[in-house]
Amino acid sequence: MKSKMKVLVTCGPTREPLDPVRFISNRSTGTLGIELARAFAARGHRVVLAAGPIGALPDLGARVRVVRFETAVELHRISLKEFSRCDAVCMTAAVGDFRPERVSASKLKRGKTAFSIRLVPNPDILADLGKRKKAHQMLIGFSLETESLEKFAKAKFAAKNLDILAAQTTGPRRTPFGAVKMDALLIDRDGGREMLRGTTKRHLAVRLVRMTEARIDRLKAI
Ligand code: C5P
Repeated sequence: MKSKMKVLVTCGPTREPLDPVRFISNRSTGTLGIELARAFAARGHRVVLAAGPIGALPDLGARVRVVRFETAVELHRISLKEFSRCDAVCMTAAVGDFRPERVSASKLKRGKTAFSIRLVPNPDILADLGKRKKAHQMLIGFSLETESLEKFAKAKFAAKNLDILAAQTTGPRRTPFGAVKMDALLIDRDGGREMLRGTTKRHLAVRLVRMTEARIDRLKAI
């Protein structure tokens, strides 16, 4: 590809605080997003890597600018701000769908009785970007399903106005969290469908970068 892109890659889990020391989160390690940032940069593209609480990042070079987030609301704000200046977004972040309605200012005390925490929905960041997407921009989404991979993947693809979706399966025998090898189904807007079995995250990242480049080239040619 001749022209270079600016890409937003989001990675890692969100943390939704309950009080100053506790939070609700998930098992995401951010590995695929880091591989994507590396793969885009290796092809000469500029990357904004929005990274959740995943500890220290490896050195990704001068083409990758890192922005940190904790909550889904913070990631929402960062994504909307960066999106207007980007050609493509890879939304690998495992965004928590719910957050506690109230965050206690002081540490919740141990008690002898049960209590409930009311959860309210977080914004669906990818769906919001899908509504704002311009003709020259691309959205790459990721999903994790425990059943009916293809059916749910296709529904998500349409609902979020995606250009590429990489769907992974999870179950008792195989989980993708930090895994070295994984299965992924790739679907693209031009009707392409590819099942990658026992692939590495690095290989999946390189494949997605090439698919993104090919589609951006086609969009620019129209
Ligand atoms: O609908 P589901 O959560 O399975 O969709 C997964 C995709 O949507 C991922 O790319 C994830 O980063 C993104 N997502 C989001 N905002 C949410 C939930 C998921 O952007 N609140």
